Amino acid sequence: MRDFEVVIGLEVHAQLRTQSKIFCSCSTVFGLEPNTNTCEVCLGMPGVLPVLNRAVVDCGIKLGLATGCSVEPVTVFARKNYFYPDLPKGYQITQYDHPLCSNGHLDIEVGGEKKRIGIVRIHMEEDAGKTIHDEDKPLSFIDFNRAGVPLLEIVSRPDLRSSSEAVEYLKVLRLLLMYLEICDGNMEEGSFRCDANVSVKPVGQQVLGIRTELKNMNSFRNVHKALDYEVRRQIELLAKGDTVVQETRLWNAALNESQPMRSKEESHDYRYFPEPDLVPVVVDEAWIDEIRATLPELPSDKRARFATTYGLPSYDTEVLTQSRALADFFEQCVEILDSPKDISNWIMTEVLHVLKVRGKGIGQLGLGPPEIAGLLALIREGTLSGTLAKEVFSEMVASGRDAHSIVSEKGLEQLSDKERIREAIEVVLNEHPKEVARYRGGKTQLLGFFVGQVMKATRGKANPNLTNTLIREMLDS
Ligand code: ADP
Ligand code: MG
Ligand code: ZN
Repeated sequence: MRDFEVVIGLEVHAQLRTQSKIFCSCSTVFGLEPNTNTCEVCLGMPGVLPVLNRAVVDCGIKLGLATGCSVEPVTVFARKNYFYPDLPKGYQITQYDHPLCSNGHLDIEVGGEKKRIGIVRIHMEEDAGKTIHDEDKPLSFIDFNRAGVPLLEIVSRPDLRSSSEAVEYLKVLRLLLMYLEICDGNMEEGSFRCDANVSVKPVGQQVLGIRTELKNMNSFRNVHKALDYEVRRQIELLAKGDTVVQETRLWNAALNESQPMRSKEESHDYRYFPEPDLVPVVVDEAWIDEIRATLPELPSDKRARFATTYGLPSYDTEVLTQSRALADFFEQCVEILDSPKDISNWIMTEVLHVLKVRGKGIGQLGLGPPEIAGLLALIREGTLSGTLAKEVFSEMVASGRDAHSIVSEKGLEQLSDKERIREAIEVVLNEHPKEVARYRGGKTQLLGFFVGQVMKATRGKANPNLTNTLIREMLDS
């Protein structure tokens, strides 16, 4: 490992959340009965013509602006010719030498180090259908529902130097697409997929090594494992004097290895030419300005603002901005109750725990910011102890009710009345004369034991600080 440098460039395909497909009015909804979302255009029947969906260009401009790209004033579609059963026209409509956006970047941070990764281009294209192989029959089936679903392809420069950097880049890009609300980011359903180009070269050598392209990794974990495997494989080859073959390899997650799929094609193999059925698209300043006006606050800006406005540590800002909805939820809580750090802690632990267990997003919590802020207000004003608050929260999650009504119904208000706590302590001390004697004889560690007994007697309601002080007063007197 020591003498070789790793070089990775990623090609990401993001499925766009437009209502309809890129060149026809079929729906893009995922998971319908095979071949129900199709028409003459996306099935590639003779004599039909594509019509560009303007919303696809909107999405592309949005991502281009968010990644500092320049947007081409005139962008052109191209035919990429190849045969595959799930590509009924015999060509894919994509973009070649006039992509919608080019020369942008994404900033990542790995191991505390910031790094800027170049983006070569972002272009629009149509997805192909899906081939489903039945190993038992053996038969193959084709579902054309996905044919013509709009994609953005985002191509990075070969700037990534490790599998960790590659995964971080993907996470940053995925979060950005989701903030922009142009892609749902679902890797398992294939709405966010990546092909990884990998090469290694001796440290110090300027010329890049021969690369392979990895496909079929449908989780961050798989990307990580596939890249590590491929880097090791290439280094082993070079170390024993062999050469790397330029090829496309498939990651096999079950076997934990990549396997050769086909020798790498060159772009001239595809006979690209401008798509004669579509006119070039003119993207003027007015269009770009219109899209710029719809850009939301981006994740990195939001993190910075959360740090300065609310004084939160970077760990908190990272967690709270993992989705726009979660960040909004946090801010709505703070508007009601001005305790940002308490709210952040509660969201990061209790709230996210519940959502993780249920596999749901913040929108499906069943409780809104007023309920969470209401609960934390009860803790802050001393009505509810931290321990009981967790119990109340579980009850809130289960029933959707607010903290106040649960606390008063169950009589869970924290006991802060000195006289009543003294009474409870009195009883405990009378029940444990031996421990009292040992405490007075110097075994002061027994304080915790007495506090515990008082808590038990008051069913956890006694104010712990007050109980502590009062027990000490009573035992020391
Ligand atoms: P292709 O036409 O084969 O798709 P591109 O030049 O468009 O090739 O590059 C595709 C991706 O491969 C880009 O993300 C680029 O950064 C990456 N890449 C190119 N050369 C190398 C290399 N030698 N090692 C690793 N990645 C590379
Ligand atoms: Mg490519
Ligand atoms: Zn269609």
